[in-house]
Amino acid sequence: MPAKPLLEFNDCGIYCAAGDFYIDPWRPVKSAVITHAHSDHAKWGHDNYLAHSLSREVLLYRLGEISLETMDYGKTVVKNGVTISFFPAGHILGSAQVRVEYKGEVWVVSGDYKLEDDQVCQPFEPVKCHSFISECTFGLPVYSWRPQQEIFDSMNNWWRQNIEEGRTTVLVGYSLGKAQRILQGLDLSIGRVYTHGVIENTNEALRRNGVQLSETTRVTPDTNKDEMRRGLILCPPSSVGTPWMRKFYPYSFGYCSGWMALRGAKRRRAADRGFVLSDHADWNGLISAIQATGCETVYLTHGYTAPFSRYLSETGYDAHEAHTIYGGDEASELDQDPVKLVNEEGEVIGAEENIDSMEALAVDSATPLKQPLTDSEKSAALKKAKKAGGAL
Ligand SMILES: [Zn+2]
Ligand SMILES: [Zn+2]
Repeated sequence: MPAKPLLEFNDCGIYCAAGDFYIDPWRPVKSAVITHAHSDHAKWGHDNYLAHSLSREVLLYRLGEISLETMDYGKTVVKNGVTISFFPAGHILGSAQVRVEYKGEVWVVSGDYKLEDDQVCQPFEPVKCHSFISECTFGLPVYSWRPQQEIFDSMNNWWRQNIEEGRTTVLVGYSLGKAQRILQGLDLSIGRVYTHGVIENTNEALRRNGVQLSETTRVTPDTNKDEMRRGLILCPPSSVGTPWMRKFYPYSFGYCSGWMALRGAKRRRAADRGFVLSDHADWNGLISAIQATGCETVYLTHGYTAPFSRYLSETGYDAHEAHTIYGGDEASELDQDPVKLVNEEGEVIGAEENIDSMEALAVDSATPLKQPLTDSEKSAALKKAKKAGGAL
């Protein structure tokens, strides 16, 4: 009988039988190693958690009182003879690739990752291994990211233009990761950044963890509306189409996500501007990350697993699709309250083969299907607002 693989996929998650622990389990288990604090990877209900030190405060904020041990990059912990260590994944603050070694065999679980250095979290570091368990959220050749500076330049120009034209700037991005990256890329000489409570709570958790973030101001009922008109309002996907967002009218609404590369995504979100900025690797990024590991075997956990594993097999890898439930940050785009696709048995099923339906669901549940204003509607709204003394 062939030996059991060091890591396997079972009903609860990615399991290491030799060490008796799970990585990013989706059902409650005794011992959970967490790649990062996004809700599809860090679930509630495990007896013990091990995560990177910079995930600590966000995990406690999101999951409440949990039994949590933390570890820095490059450090090791041994469980039943199995060595576990963390390496930077470059996805969000505190995101780690998990390296597992036992009797000379090395596996790496990527979690989510990107290769571009976002100047917020420690950049991705390739780790040599025999088997690599990788995400492939954007594993199609059409996904090819522009350098982030180009995206930030157009974001800053849009902000300036909105101020000139008397509109509030409202920018939507996921609260953990995207929001901090946007904050880092904005030109704060233009104005102040105001935050939705979900984003400010996340920022506060990161600051408690010792992370230096630029100054942000929480939007409260008392926040001065005229000052906000010159600022930029940063809010999570869940606020789109809510009365909270409507009170900033007249505004220009931008959406920041890798999915903005999809034709029609901006229109379906009813956004005025789409900024293609992702915290996941694009097609070339995935391939170069996999090559850099020197691995022979690849398991693909979420994203375009079928076409991407076919491509890897054709280029000589022993590539497999794995069934997981990951895909909750940019895949569903719903903050804190991810859309779950449930099968007839009431089980949560994966997002990877359902990206289109996830998108449709997200639109239906969170976004009114309003058409963007035409230019004449916009100038009429602007005139009306000016006449009203600019009050919201
Ligand atoms: Zn993630
Ligand atoms: Zn993920």
